[in-house]
Amino acid sequence: MKTYCPVCSWGEAEPYLKKGETELVRCTQCTLVRRYPLPRAPRIEALDSLNADGEDERAAEELRADFVVQNVRKFVPSGNWLDVGCGTAQRLVMARKAGFSVRGVEQDEIVAHNARKNFGLEISDGDLFDASFPPAFFNVVTLWHELDHTSAPLDLLAEVQRVLKPGGYCLIEVQNIVAMRKLSDENELKQSLGDPTRALYFSPVTARAVAEKAGFAVQEMQTRSSADYAPHLPAWKKAAKSVLSRVGLPELIGVVAQK
Ligand SMILES: [Zn+2]
Repeated sequence: MKTYCPVCSWGEAEPYLKKGETELVRCTQCTLVRRYPLPRAPRIEALDSLNADGEDERAAEELRADFVVQNVRKFVPSGNWLDVGCGTAQRLVMARKAGFSVRGVEQDEIVAHNARKNFGLEISDGDLFDASFPPAFFNVVTLWHELDHTSAPLDLLAEVQRVLKPGGYCLIEVQNIVAMRKLSDENELKQSLGDPTRALYFSPVTARAVAEKAGFAVQEMQTRSSADYAPHLPAWKKAAKSVLSRVGLPELIGVVAQK
């Protein structure tokens, strides 16, 4: 079918997956999988973590945030850190504890307000463009499950480039559509497809390609299972997820990109 790819501009795509009303197509040139048609509405969603009353979920969220901070510190020991789509700001709280100067951007005004009130953090309402940060200000920018929620990934990454210092890092995490499709966990697929703001569905190949196309040098491709930071998952589910990672179908893709 005729439709333009937001990464390589190729005008042809093929059907990839259809579930109910939701249709995904794949670019016949760069293989990027995307929702068809691409969503236009800005991303404002009820964050799962808002309902995270359970001890288990809170523990998982802290574990995830701690993982992100440890991961960033392997590349950037200190300095200014921006988390785009910071949500409840767990990552920023941990990053501040680790000595970073932190800033966040969050489109959901209520979530942003709560994070400011609870933690005294500097969090801007809106998207990265609304925040108008000065050029070359940040040592590191994190995009945790953000890049797949934009219909214009190259524009977003260009703005990340602008606000990063030369040599600064952008760390990205997205879900892997290839693994998601193979997972026998129908719920996970349904949840992901059911989110209308979810525009793009990356594979390790396309996640790397979009960072390179935006002008970054990809220093490391990382793969992991959500079981790595989900202490409350039942053992059988953990085992199933780990097996996927071992056979080369990791659920999550990490891209470590340098300006
Ligand atoms: Zn393409």
